[in-house]
Amino acid sequence: TKHWTKPGDFKGNPTENDFKLVEENLPDDLIDGEILCEAVYLTVDPYMGIPGEHLGKPFGKYKTMFGEAVSKVLKSKNGKYPVGTLVLAPSGWRTHFISNGDQPPLRPIPFDLGQLSPSLALGPLGMPALTAYSGLRMCEPKAGEICVVNGAAGAVGSIVGQLAKAKGLTVIGFAGTDEKVSWCKNDLKFDYVYNYKKITLEDALKESAPNGVDVFYDNVGGDFHHEMISKHMRIRGRTCICGSISNYNNKEPKTYPQNNLTIFLKELKIYGVLVTMHKSEGPNALSELAECIKKGELRYKEEVYDGFDQMPKALAGLFKGDNFGKAIVKASNY
Ligand code: NDP
Repeated sequence: TKHWTKPGDFKGNPTENDFKLVEENLPDDLIDGEILCEAVYLTVDPYMGIPGEHLGKPFGKYKTMFGEAVSKVLKSKNGKYPVGTLVLAPSGWRTHFISNGDQPPLRPIPFDLGQLSPSLALGPLGMPALTAYSGLRMCEPKAGEICVVNGAAGAVGSIVGQLAKAKGLTVIGFAGTDEKVSWCKNDLKFDYVYNYKKITLEDALKESAPNGVDVFYDNVGGDFHHEMISKHMRIRGRTCICGSISNYNNKEPKTYPQNNLTIFLKELKIYGVLVTMHKSEGPNALSELAECIKKGELRYKEEVYDGFDQMPKALAGLFKGDNFGKAIVKASNY
């Protein structure tokens, strides 16, 4: 098996040089209860680049990088997992692994795949989608209100905007390239979409929300967050802090204490969402979203990197806006 290992800490945003490839021989024979799995699709997500390892730690003697994958069972001595079964597991950045069914813990794909690619279980029907679903719900979105979402063409943001549209909100998206902007506008049908590298938030909202915003779903943090809270929310507006990708790896992360004034003057509500707190709702919520995808009511895009060797490049790319839609690495066929 091959492993991508993470020997040290990131210095700033993750780069391809932060990881090392290691090869290990797995035992030839399985013992009763064990299965040998091969990763088919692996995910890279921004949390993997957050310093301090709050959300995962490299593991094992090689310091294998953590993360989830969809894998297929290649050999089995466990009746619950026949050869060919697809499983989800936090198996890390490895091409192959052996599980006894509990370690690493295995989960079935929690919805009927039909003709859909199993990779969706890592994106528009996986962790990012559950984050979008849970975080938006906290903001109590109501028809007729105005919602701003940044990272709008990404794994979380693209679902947030579509769910908000389906609830009857006016959706204003922000993304970092003109291609992403036109996808959000033309395919996802967001009402207004801006390239934040070409227009200021101030000018954009002068056009689309001159009287303020009710719901702000924040994937980006930093200055965008500060400006939204201090200037553009309506009275009793709600914000979901989902991520802060612009700020994770700043040497001195920015904070804006003066936001407190606006928070009480306008009685704003600021929520944080952490997807792992919503695990139990996953199967129901994701089955609901799977039906929407099958009916064509929920759209998605994937940026598929071909080959296990692309893992570090795919992760580093998230911090440069290289991914258009959910970033996925395809390691083998199924
Ligand atoms: P995306 O698919 O949105 O990929 C990351 C995108 O972020 C990039 O493509 C880029 O898009 C944008 N970006 C990168 N750097 C910056 C920057 N400095 N300023 C502005 N935009 C930037 O990732 P996800 O959808 O998976 O994650 C989105 C956010 O949600 C992240 O902050 C992540 O950490 C968070 N998250 C939180 C979870 C939770 O439980 N709280 C769970 C899952 C994700 P562009 O080209 O538009 O700039």
